[in-house]
Amino acid sequence: MWSAIVVLSLVGCAVAGPPVTRSRKDIEGFRAYLERSRTDDGLRLESRMLLNPKASPWENSGKFQGDILLNDKQVELLMQQYAGVGARNAFIWPNTKWPRNTVVYEINNEFTQAQVQAIRASMAEIEEHTCIRFRRKTSFDRNYVLVTGRPDGCYATAGYWEDMGMHHTLNIGKANPGEGCFINAIIIHEWLHIIGFLHLHSTHDRDDYVRILWENMVPDGEYDFQKFDTDTVDNMDVPYEYASTMHYCRYGHTANGKPTMLPIYNDYGRMGQLDYVTEWDWLRVNRHYNCPGAWETPVHADELSQKRENDAALEKMSQRNVAEDLPQEEVLAADTPQDVEAEKVSVVEEARLDQ
Ligand SMILES: [Zn+2]
Repeated sequence: MWSAIVVLSLVGCAVAGPPVTRSRKDIEGFRAYLERSRTDDGLRLESRMLLNPKASPWENSGKFQGDILLNDKQVELLMQQYAGVGARNAFIWPNTKWPRNTVVYEINNEFTQAQVQAIRASMAEIEEHTCIRFRRKTSFDRNYVLVTGRPDGCYATAGYWEDMGMHHTLNIGKANPGEGCFINAIIIHEWLHIIGFLHLHSTHDRDDYVRILWENMVPDGEYDFQKFDTDTVDNMDVPYEYASTMHYCRYGHTANGKPTMLPIYNDYGRMGQLDYVTEWDWLRVNRHYNCPGAWETPVHADELSQKRENDAALEKMSQRNVAEDLPQEEVLAADTPQDVEAEKVSVVEEARLDQ
């Protein structure tokens, strides 16, 4: 399933970096976290939002990375990777693309007419911009997505798994359209997990674009900020994008109200936005599914010029504080992207000294 972090195209499997040896305690801790992420803890989304009102509903839904509902196979693959069992690339994620670009679904009989319309509108938008098609389940379909409205949040399984049957899940906690999980960009975000994508901040080159502030996270929060290497995820030759609908905001899993992730370049306030799906989000989908013309479609010129603008800005700031455009409360004493690692280390060391 890590077939799409950014789009992961489920190719391989290793967690970024060379295999590492973990202690038994670390391994047990990771497994306990993964199991917790799959267990209903009884909390409603409203309660989770009170714990971290600065993050989005999907980030606060209590699953892996906030809103990814893992299946048994995925848990085992993640455990093997985390434990460093076997050789690098020994575990291959299966192809998780939906056959014939068609997502088969059933909407559970629990939504109001307005909610069903909102769900259908999200599907229509995906069909408008990609070659993905939706088809309602028939009695012959064994594998399909059951759209449910449990109150614990907004989350989804990731990718197509031919032995998962009706347990392909897209849950949109019931709310008035436009509120809570029923924000259009959130519903589409969850569909993009179903289609095979993971979160952008997990991709292999994310450290070139964001700084992770480990010290501000809730316990176990670091598990949600793992990244996956090029054998695992494929960005489909589409540049990193703060405004992607698959990107965390600044405050995901914060323990103290301070940011857990900051953009290195100016994000124009778009990181974690819930207002729209970007052209590059659609392009990633189209390339992942080899939709006609997708690989010939150039990256949008406006976005490219913004990238160049960002690059120029970084160049200009490389001798100074790269975070100077950020609100004061978020400014940290970093210099260049290369210094981020050094600073992170120093932060860890300081924390140790404090103990
Ligand atoms: Zn998500």
